Amino acid sequence: MLTLRASKLGGCVRQYVMLLRSGREQVLPPRTKLIFAVGKALESVILEHAGFDPGLLLHDQVEVRIPINSDLTITGHPDADDGEWVLECKTMRAFAFKRMREGGLDEQFPQYLVQGAVYCKGLGRKGVKFLCLDKDDSRIESITFEADALEPYWNWAVAAALKIQSWLPLKRLPGREISLPPWYCSAAYCHLAECRYNFANPKKLEWKRRK
Ligand code: SF4
Repeated sequence: MLTLRASKLGGCVRQYVMLLRSGREQVLPPRTKLIFAVGKALESVILEHAGFDPGLLLHDQVEVRIPINSDLTITGHPDADDGEWVLECKTMRAFAFKRMREGGLDEQFPQYLVQGAVYCKGLGRKGVKFLCLDKDDSRIESITFEADALEPYWNWAVAAALKIQSWLPLKRLPGREISLPPWYCSAAYCHLAECRYNFANPKKLEWKRRK
């Protein structure tokens, strides 16, 4: 049985296939680990600041599991749930917050919607409230996506999961998705230096220099 994490399905399929084939966990650089740890530590304050009871936090105790076919399941751990809405806490720097406000969460961070769509489907809620914190000046913006609006992102999650399942037994790798933003391939977000797209890969840098 292949079990795939909702939080990774909106990201790089090539990366997920490489990790699954190698049997390795993704090794994050200390800076990225710190960013995630800070985000986790702030969840309770974010909920409170956004007007929700911090007691709604699920602390990874609730697992969503959705079977896609007889050999494939999508899983994940929502941050919080008030019985009507899934609540997802997202921390971001001022520049990302500005981008999110100007361009829309769905345009700038579609991977969050893919993740939220899985939780919404798994818990059968009305939708997802993304509570986005600007870490630089402590502003919070709550952005709501109802279940209907999340349907395309649920389809994205299923399509990515099926793609991973189909590529896994092969020797070749899927290409880099066109929609993947350039920063995704930087050393801060992807440690797979063996991938020819990785910005930390010396061969790639050489190739870039020659251009
Ligand atoms: S370097 Fe980019 S394309 Fe390659 S695995 Fe990492 S995120 Fe994916």
